[in-house]
Amino acid sequence: MSQRPYVIDVMISAKAIAARIEELCEEIQTEFGNTDKLVVVGLLRGSFVFIADLVRELDLPIEVDFLEASSYGDAMESSREVRILKDLRGAIEGRDVLVVEDIVDTGHTLNHVTHLLQSRNPARLKSIALLDKPSRREVDFRSDWIGFEIPDEFVVGYGIDYAQRNRNLPFIGKVRFTEDG
Ligand code: 5GP
Ligand code: MG
Ligand code: MG
Repeated sequence: MSQRPYVIDVMISAKAIAARIEELCEEIQTEFGNTDKLVVVGLLRGSFVFIADLVRELDLPIEVDFLEASSYGDAMESSREVRILKDLRGAIEGRDVLVVEDIVDTGHTLNHVTHLLQSRNPARLKSIALLDKPSRREVDFRSDWIGFEIPDEFVVGYGIDYAQRNRNLPFIGKVRFTEDG
């Protein structure tokens, strides 16, 4: 896919993200109480910045694991078929599990991943996504916690890429193409 020229407009500032993460962690701590068996599962690669900030704000004993599911590749089209490219290292049976995702878009990815993990009999399974695009949903899936609802815009930054670039931006930005393509 050739790259059309684009600029990135700030949609959610680093400060707003940090403030929201503080609120979310209060709720997560309340939900998981004094668990001593919480596994925080990051979906690679888009959630790596979010999970890093989230776990440092969580005042709970946790373990961290990662799972990679197929998603966009280098294009902007979503794929309906979800494949597991990299599975968890650890077993989650009897554990409390929090799945951390960057964006819920059509819902296929988190829907598939949470069903898969549920089949391994965790004690409790919850999910959190930084961003939610409810207008794009194709399957009936709702994350337990959402950072921000956003409109149907293609976003980058804070771990989220466009063709593998822009993951290192500290804010969520929206891609705006500057020429007709
Ligand atoms: P879903 O399976 O819910 O359609 O898609 C979830 C995945 O699609 C996200 O984890 C993310 O990787 C990708 N995605 C959805 N919206 C966007 C977006 O605006 N920008 C980027 N870079 N990826 C997106
Ligand atoms: Mg993703
Ligand atoms: Mg991607």
